[in-house]
Amino acid sequence: MKWIGGIALTVVLIGAYLFYGVLSQRYDAQHNLVLAHEPYVVSEAARALHETIPVADLHSDMLLWNRDPSKRHKRGHTDLPRLREGGVALQVFTAVTKTPPALNYDKNSSDKDALTLLMVAQAWPVATWGSIFERAIYQASRLEGLEHREDGAFVFAKNKSDLQSALDQGVLAGVYGVEGAHPLEGNLENVDGLFDVGLRVMGLQHFFDNELGGSLHGESGAGLTAFGRDAVTKAVSKGMIIDVAHSSEQVVRDVLALTDKPIIVSHTGVNGHCDSPRNISDDLMKEIADHGGLIGVGFWDGAVCDPSIDHVASAIIYAIALLGIEHVALGSDYDGTVTTAFDASELPALTQSLMDAGLEDDEIYAVMGGNTVRFFLEHLPD
Ligand SMILES: [Zn+2]
Repeated sequence: MKWIGGIALTVVLIGAYLFYGVLSQRYDAQHNLVLAHEPYVVSEAARALHETIPVADLHSDMLLWNRDPSKRHKRGHTDLPRLREGGVALQVFTAVTKTPPALNYDKNSSDKDALTLLMVAQAWPVATWGSIFERAIYQASRLEGLEHREDGAFVFAKNKSDLQSALDQGVLAGVYGVEGAHPLEGNLENVDGLFDVGLRVMGLQHFFDNELGGSLHGESGAGLTAFGRDAVTKAVSKGMIIDVAHSSEQVVRDVLALTDKPIIVSHTGVNGHCDSPRNISDDLMKEIADHGGLIGVGFWDGAVCDPSIDHVASAIIYAIALLGIEHVALGSDYDGTVTTAFDASELPALTQSLMDAGLEDDEIYAVMGGNTVRFFLEHLPD
């Protein structure tokens, strides 16, 4: 009987190794891709300009994946070594907490959740398996742990002075956001709970309609619900920034009517440049900009149609012409199960591409990070 027990134990251990050690990493590697390419050529002039810029990006989903962010990885798009190599001074790290099985741009129902299996396969705390709120709390704790382990080389920025001191010291700063406010689980008090663990960018929807209102990819196309209005009002009063990426156009209009505080679209394309169901109308983008908002241009096909680096640059140039230079920023969607042409370490090549396209140095400075840094220094809590 002993040898049967030995075989059974071996089978369980191999199964656990495959399930926990291999499958989730393989999923990460297969879904956060960089297109094969020759090394980008970056001129002395572009590199010199890039080095003066506090590069900033409004959207990475790195926290969803079990990669040690302190180490450089071959899979995915972002980790601290690659962000630093790309000259990034400020990165918004966004928590994904629930997704439908298929990430359709046209329509998804809200009843299914494909993330539970990933949480289990990555051996996340049991509390995260059944609670969307706990998933957001856990991802904040990952950022908090990173700040401790990095011992001064990474700042989890929760207010203006955290960000300013990181910039002064030349240390990478991370701001915490959620991709959709379903972690509130319909309870306004959870705004406090999430604020207390450092949440500063509150996305309202992701791929499905939630308690706050309609998604751009949901079933209803609805605007803000009564709960959504209360949640936005409370989040703004606490100093959070509202992110309407993935929100229905009616939600965007309702938020603009509800608050004077500028809002962001953390990762998007611009419809007049790329006619995609992922992108809201140019007119509504203009209203967001007129409201003082910031639009992060994404690096993947669903946002910009063709994800080549020169085409991403053309999306940025289109957005500048439509919205004005001070309203355009980077919103990569790195590690958001997308394929890009360049990872975070290769961001100097985007400076080169914008230079080649004829932008002035001060315009490149603004879109590559100046605008986002200014926005967060102005709108994070004191
Ligand atoms: Zn997204």
